[in-house]
Formats: sequence, structure tokens, C-alpha cells
Amino acid sequence: MTTDKRSQSAHAPLLPANEILRAKALTVYERLVALYGAREHIPRREPMHELISTILSHRTTGKNEGEAYRNMWARFGSWQAIRDAPLPALIETLSPATFPEVKAPYIQGVLTRIATERGESEPNIDFLRDWPTDQALDWLMSMPGVGIKTATLVLLFCFGRPVLPVDTHVHRISQRVGLIGAKVNPTAAHPIVLALLPPDPYLLYNFHIANLRHGQQVCIWGTPHCEKCPLTDICDWYQKNRAARSGS
Ligand code: SF4
Repeated sequence: MTTDKRSQSAHAPLLPANEILRAKALTVYERLVALYGAREHIPRREPMHELISTILSHRTTGKNEGEAYRNMWARFGSWQAIRDAPLPALIETLSPATFPEVKAPYIQGVLTRIATERGESEPNIDFLRDWPTDQALDWLMSMPGVGIKTATLVLLFCFGRPVLPVDTHVHRISQRVGLIGAKVNPTAAHPIVLALLPPDPYLLYNFHIANLRHGQQVCIWGTPHCEKCPLTDICDWYQKNRAARSGS
């Protein structure tokens, strides 16, 4: 740390730790959105599609997730037929995704639960639009194969609720920057990172999208491209691993 920086921090107003982290989270948002641009918050697909595709997306590329979803629909043609399909046939159609033998029973379990509870001939989850966020979150997370990341993604993307999906990119960047501790796992990170940001669905959506792009292009798994990053001055990982080495 330079003398200048020492004297600045010595004279900075003393903020409670949470306020410092909130300010840092907002800076991450502002700088990454300035870099990648803000997106209009418009649902990209209908809620059932989002839910099932997100189950398929676990440890799978977007391309393979899309191929598995299209295969499934080309072969069976309706949610009812997917629900009632012989398991081996459904597993076969999902083979572009990873773990199709795990995801196929999850998908049939979700479709069966919705049909049992809601009774509609063609399953849908549009009713969640009218439910309080916590209730909708609990309901989604009671479904087979649906954890907090999938549930928050559906509620934020499709229903504009003020929640934040912490995917691998949001988690990695939040850890490196120092919004969460090194031992905080992705599930535990959800309420922590959410509490640092304003409860604004547009902001949360763009925080998620900008972190996703940054994690894919710059703050990648392995060695990050810090030389291209606008967060170096507020990043704990950079300050510890790079700034110290370069003497800055
Ligand atoms: S400075 Fe480096 S480690 Fe920190 S957020 Fe940017 S790319 Fe990631």
C-alpha cells in the first residue's frame, strides 16, 4: 500500500463493515454494467421453459442445455408426454446435457408434482406471479432438483422478484472481490450477496448478467485476466496476489 493510500484510509470516515461491503457491491455493479452495458429486464422464455431449462443447465453449457431441451420437445411434444415418457427414452433425449440420468427423473418429478397440486391438463407455474416471494421460493425449492439458484433465477427472470441467483460466476467474483468469505459456498452466498444490494429487480438482474459475462471473459476460473478488469482497486484477490507483487 502506498503512503498516499495509507493516509487516505486513515482519514476516511469509519463505516460499519456492512456499509463498506454494500458500497463495494454497488461499485461492482456500476463498473461491470458500464463495461458490458445494461439489459432491459424482459423475460427471455416462459416460466415452465425457464424452470426446466435451468434444471438442465446444471454443469452444462448453454448450447448443450438448449439441444437437450429441443430434443426432448421434438420427441415428446408436450409436458404431459414428457412426464409420462418411459424414463430410458427421456434420458436418451437429454443426453447432450450432463447427468441426464439424474435430470430426467427430476423433470418428471417436477411435472408430476405440478399436475398433482394444480390439476391443470398442461402444467404451468404462472400462478407464482400472484404468490409472495418467500412462499414462491419455498414452493419451487420443494421441487425435485430445484435448489436456491434455480428458484431465484426463475423468480427474478420470469416474475421480476427482488432475488439474486448466485451462479458459479457471481460466486467466484464475489469471493475474489471480497463480498463473501473464502469458505462461503454458493448456497450460503445467496442471502449474503442479496443483502448487499438494493432490492431492485432491474439492478439485481443486471448485476447477475454483468457478473456472468465478466466471469466468462475476464474473471475466469483459473488465472483471471486482471489486466482487463475495472475492479482491481477494490478487489481483495488482486490486492493480495497482484498489487503486492507489482509493488503498486
Ligand atoms: S481484479 Fe482480477 S480477480 Fe479481481 S475481479 Fe477483476 S479479474 Fe477478478
